Amino acid sequence: MGLLLQNGTVVTAEKTFPADVLIEGETIKEVRAGIPAASHKTLDATGMLLLPGGIDAHTHLDMPFGGTTSSDDFETGTRAAAFGGTTTLVDFAIQARGTRMRDALDTWWKKAEGRACIDYGLHMIVTDLAGAGLEDMDDMVREGVSSFKLFMAYPNVLMVDDATIFKALRQTAKNGALICMHAENGSVIDVIVQQALAEGKTAPVYHALTRPTTAEAEAVHRAIAMAEIAGAPVYIVHLSSEDALNQVREARSRGVPAFAETCPQYLLLTIEELKRPGFEGAKYVFTPPLREKENLPKLWDGLKTDNLQVVSTDHCPFCFEDQKVLGKNDFTKIPNGGPGIENRLQLLFHHGVNEGKLSLNRFVEIVSTAPARIFGMYPKKGTIAAGSDADIVVWDPKTEHLISAKTHHMRVDYSMFEGFRVRGNARQVFSRGELIVDGGIFLGKPGRGAYLRRAVRGGAWK
Ligand SMILES: [Zn+2]
Repeated sequence: MGLLLQNGTVVTAEKTFPADVLIEGETIKEVRAGIPAASHKTLDATGMLLLPGGIDAHTHLDMPFGGTTSSDDFETGTRAAAFGGTTTLVDFAIQARGTRMRDALDTWWKKAEGRACIDYGLHMIVTDLAGAGLEDMDDMVREGVSSFKLFMAYPNVLMVDDATIFKALRQTAKNGALICMHAENGSVIDVIVQQALAEGKTAPVYHALTRPTTAEAEAVHRAIAMAEIAGAPVYIVHLSSEDALNQVREARSRGVPAFAETCPQYLLLTIEELKRPGFEGAKYVFTPPLREKENLPKLWDGLKTDNLQVVSTDHCPFCFEDQKVLGKNDFTKIPNGGPGIENRLQLLFHHGVNEGKLSLNRFVEIVSTAPARIFGMYPKKGTIAAGSDADIVVWDPKTEHLISAKTHHMRVDYSMFEGFRVRGNARQVFSRGELIVDGGIFLGKPGRGAYLRRAVRGGAWK
């Protein structure tokens, strides 16, 4: 006996078609119109879209940063994600300088154990390749950590030099993993920041004014150039500006395997948010910063033309009242990050599909299928097909939803999208066949989420 989702409209990255979906145990058994109900339990999905569960490839749960820790842990963060139709995420373990990557992996497994409500993978943030670093990368690949992130920003904290980046890229050319780059020229930005502070410019808006788009574009260009020399693909995280996007487009037009993601905040918000009265702009301090409004349509264009492949959230929440205030008198001390794990599908569906900027299929590709492919989880995740995990969102395209900190499930005291009205939301959410969200009620158990061992060479480049 299985569970039969009846009379829905299945949406994949390739097509949209009326069908029933039969779930048996944790996987999808069959997808076609007119599956006999027989002895199966049934759920009527008339008028509903059946989407593959969302995949958020960029989150920071329970992450130490600037003397504090992101406010969602693996329990509250994954629960909030599920409410919004995300059934898989890939978070970041951080190698501390002078330590082995295995230590970081163990630390992050412990953070997730007993808490994660949905399946999760881990990227490894590389801060140190001295000693056994390159062997550690191969070791991580064997553990299913098939992607690594390096920082070209945050000098003296996370930033690594070009030699380290190049060595890491060369290692992935051999072991098949993917390098993710935080691309901003941290050394140049640091000089601009120090000058601003010396001039007494301490308000939140200076976080954005000290990080020019050209500093992002330069780093994107350099990252791609180093990847080309190494003969490896590269993935640019949280791309925020037209200048940076132009670098990716130029490389892709030459056939270079360069990939990039953006985030809802860069598609929907501008630098004006940082100019809010008092200290409120601190709610929008994250890196790269919000940009001038001219950038927004260019990023939507990038999604349409596949110069951007993925929308993730970079979810990294810090409470306004007791965490963001650490930077009250100095914008450099404001914990960098914002909340978004719950709202990604709602925002992309409404502002993308409803407003005619994205087809339904492209929407599914951006929020689920492409991240599954690029990060080595496809076709277990990222599609609705026989044999895939039964991660399915029963999506009501007509329901209205008002985004607000008063009703969201993230453990943070504000919303970056407060007051946004969207049409379309998750009604039921299945994770490996288990109903974990039903009409606004959470049914999943903390700890049920499983660690995902991800494959190398995700299949996005051949
Ligand atoms: Zn991030």
